[in-house]
Amino acid sequence: MISKDERELLYKHAEEKFEKVAELQRLGLICDDGDFVPTVHYPPITEYPDQGPEYLDDYVWPADDRMDIYVHIPFCIQQCTYCHYPNKVGPCDDEKEKYIGYLIREMDLFLNKFGKENIKPRSILLGGGTPTNLQPKLLDHFLTEFDKRVDFSHCNQHNVDLGPNSIVGPDGTEKMQILKDHGVTRLTIGLQSLNNDVLKLMNRPHDAQWAIDSVYKALEFGFDVNIEFIFGHPGETIDNWTDVMAQAIELPMNEIQIYRLKVQAYGDRQGVINRRKRGSGADDIPDFKNTMMMKSIAEEMMMNHGFNETLRRVFSKDKKIYSHYAYNQCCAQFDQVGFGLSGFSSYRDRFDINSYNFDEYYSMIDEGKLPITRAYKHSTEEKIRQKIVLPLKNQYIIKKRFEKNSGGYNIDDLFKKKRAALTEHGLIEDTGNDIRLTDLGRFVADEVCECFNSDEHKPFARERYADGPLNPYNDNEIFD
Ligand code: SF4
Repeated sequence: MISKDERELLYKHAEEKFEKVAELQRLGLICDDGDFVPTVHYPPITEYPDQGPEYLDDYVWPADDRMDIYVHIPFCIQQCTYCHYPNKVGPCDDEKEKYIGYLIREMDLFLNKFGKENIKPRSILLGGGTPTNLQPKLLDHFLTEFDKRVDFSHCNQHNVDLGPNSIVGPDGTEKMQILKDHGVTRLTIGLQSLNNDVLKLMNRPHDAQWAIDSVYKALEFGFDVNIEFIFGHPGETIDNWTDVMAQAIELPMNEIQIYRLKVQAYGDRQGVINRRKRGSGADDIPDFKNTMMMKSIAEEMMMNHGFNETLRRVFSKDKKIYSHYAYNQCCAQFDQVGFGLSGFSSYRDRFDINSYNFDEYYSMIDEGKLPITRAYKHSTEEKIRQKIVLPLKNQYIIKKRFEKNSGGYNIDDLFKKKRAALTEHGLIEDTGNDIRLTDLGRFVADEVCECFNSDEHKPFARERYADGPLNPYNDNEIFD
C-alpha cells in the first residue's frame, strides 16, 4: 500500500513528465497521436524480403565458435487479447508432440549444414508461447534432446519465459524440477497485471493470486526471477496501475520489466486488441497521456525501491540477473540462432526468420530444408544504423565496440547534426567513451533511437510528425 501523499506526489511528477513528452511531440519527435513502434530489431522483421534457407550458404561461423540459442515453443492455454504471436491454444497434446519432433529435426538440419556436433552458447532463451505448457514428460523429453545438441561449457545463463498457471499446482512443481534438472537458471514470468478485472480483460488464464504464487514457487526452486507487466491495456487506470505496482515492488524477487501495450502488431499476426478503441470507457484503450503517466509512475516507484534500469524497460535490484540473451543480441550483438515457428536468428551481418505457418514449417523440414522464409543481409549503411539503434535503445553505444562492429567507422564522424539536435534537447549525452540516453531520452527511448532508422524503415510517415527540429526524417544521411 502507498499513502495518499505518496500517490499524489507520483501523479504530480507523472503530469510533469507528460508535459515534457508533449513538448517533444510538438518538436517532432513523437508521432501525431502518440502511437509507437517498439524498436526490438533493426530493421523491423516484417520488412525482410522473402528468402529461403540458401541465403545462409555463405554465412561464416563465428571465429570463437560461440552462438546463443533461442527456441520458440508456440503453445498457450488461451489467447491473450494483446498477443500478436503465432501460436496454438488449448490442450493440443498431439500437435505439441509433433512440433517437438520437428524442432529437434530443425536443430539437426542446422548442425549438419555447418558440420557441427553441437552449439556452444553464451546464453539460451526458451520462449513462445509458453514452453512450460508442454506436458511434463514432453518437456523433459525436449530438454533431454536439446541438451544433447548443446555444449554448455560457456553458457552463463539459461532462461525460460513462462506464464504463472503453468508452474503452480502439482504439474507445475514437476515442471519446475525438470527445468532445474536441465540447468535452467532464470525465469521470466509474465504476470502482466495483479488486478483481477484487468487480467480478465486481457483474457489471461490466471488470477492475481496465482500470479503471486508462481513468483514464490519459482523463488523456492532457486531461480533468478524476472516478472513482466503491461501498461496501457484496457481496464488499466492510473489508480489501479499504481496499486499493481505497489504490490509488485513488495514481492521478493529482484527484477521487473514493464511493457507498453502495442496495439498494432509489429509481426505478421494481429492480436484482437486492435478491435478496441481508444477512449475513457472502462474497456477502452487508455489514451496517450494516461499511458505515459502509468510509465512514469511505475518507473518512479521502482527507482524509489532500489530498482535501477539495467536494460531498457528492465528494472533490477541486482545487476547480475539481467537477461544475457537480450544483452548479447542488442548490445554486444553476438551471433544468435533461433529455432521453431517464427524463430528469429540474428548474426553479425544478416538476420532471418522462420515461417509463421505450422504447415509450412513442418513441410520445409520434411523437405530437408531449414524453415527460413524471410532474410536480410545488411548493406554497410544499414549495418551502421543497426549498431547505433539497438545499443542506444537498450543501454549505450560504446565507441570502441561500435568501431569494431561497424567495420572501422568512428561514430564521432556520423550523424553530427542529428546528434547535436538530440543533445541540445536533452535526449542523449556523450561521455567521451560512449553515447547514451539521458533520463528524458530513456523515457522516450524508442522514438529517440528511431531517429537513426533509414527513411525506409521509419515507423511512421514523415507527415505524422510535426515539422520541428526533432522530426526523425531531419538530417538522416549517415554523414550529415
Ligand atoms: S501473450 Fe504469451 S501466453 Fe498469451 S497468448 Fe501470447 S504467447 Fe501465449
